[in-house]
Amino acid sequence: MTNAKIKKEHLKLIFDRLKTSHRIIGPRLEGNVIVLAEIADFRDIPAGYKEQQGRGTYRLFKNSSQIFSFSVGPDSFKRFMSPPVRENFTFKKSKKGISISQNSSQVREIATAFIGMRACDIAALRLLDKVFLEGPVKDAGYDSLRRNSLIVGINCLYPGDNCFCSSMDAGPEIKDGFDIAVTELDDSFLLEIGTVRGREILNGLPIDEVSDKDLSEKVSKIENCKKMIKKSIKVSELPWLIYRNPEHPRWADIAGRCLACGNCTQVCPTCFCNSSYDNLQLSGISKKLPELSGARIRTWDSCFSTNFARVHGGNFRPSRRARYRQWMSHKLAYWIDQFGSPGCVGCGRCITWCPVGIDITQELEALHAR
Ligand code: SF4
Ligand code: SF4
Repeated sequence: MTNAKIKKEHLKLIFDRLKTSHRIIGPRLEGNVIVLAEIADFRDIPAGYKEQQGRGTYRLFKNSSQIFSFSVGPDSFKRFMSPPVRENFTFKKSKKGISISQNSSQVREIATAFIGMRACDIAALRLLDKVFLEGPVKDAGYDSLRRNSLIVGINCLYPGDNCFCSSMDAGPEIKDGFDIAVTELDDSFLLEIGTVRGREILNGLPIDEVSDKDLSEKVSKIENCKKMIKKSIKVSELPWLIYRNPEHPRWADIAGRCLACGNCTQVCPTCFCNSSYDNLQLSGISKKLPELSGARIRTWDSCFSTNFARVHGGNFRPSRRARYRQWMSHKLAYWIDQFGSPGCVGCGRCITWCPVGIDITQELEALHAR
């Protein structure tokens, strides 16, 4: 890995360079929320904004001279790599037989540059890779998007009030998985080049040498950020804190507050559960119209949905108590058994976007009480 430095006013040049060959996804203001969306101009980045995040609250205000003073909003890589609704394939049954066509958007190579991505989101992307790429069957749509994505990360210097990435070893510093990692210093941007593609993007741009002072400024800003993180999870207690407590009274207590709305799973960058259904065309309903066609649609689902655990003979998780316990146990216990690390990166989104402010760090802590 090598370092370079660019003047603040020149960061726009990286954006302009990327624009010639990539669709650019990055942070932008929509309504009163910073989302991830396609951005056409560097000025779309909500420079100087900061949010106040609490349990079930998110408020934006502008008060900083820094460009990347905001933290994470509700969106993550998940929205793009595994979109909320996706057509997997179309099918047609006629007298000649059955034919299946892969969705053209899956095979089309879309070069996408993600800019301003945080360490927790890059860590979450690596977890999604395990699910969608490293199992027995690769997810073709995810694979295509992933191979054609370029990642410009930004080291977090101003954590959100619900962040606990440092305790999950997922931030705030980006350590790998990026093409370029940016740190906003007082008067410039420090650039760490992670890949050949990252280096190519910077070729010919007005970059400067990095001094020891720049590197120590980065270290001190990241240390300062770590000190500002208020929440944590003791990973050393996992998975046994959960396995020891399947009947803990706290699960019923949470069920009394949880609305089973599924918001936590929708905003979570690592929740990947989905459902599929066939969207059938009506042309096959009569002898005159014997052809049957349709599409297999995949949508995000949630372990909080009433029907998620419905199988032949009944629903094996009928209560909210069972559903919340499943969600937290999957994140913080089963995932460790399956993949060797928790399925949570400490982004805090499930706390911010839970309408009743249920806080995973507090609920886990409560399992200590007998
Ligand atoms: S469980 Fe909550 S804090 Fe952990 S990754 Fe998901 S949204 Fe972020
Ligand atoms: S924990 Fe909160 S966000 Fe998740 S389902 Fe319950 S009420 Fe909704």
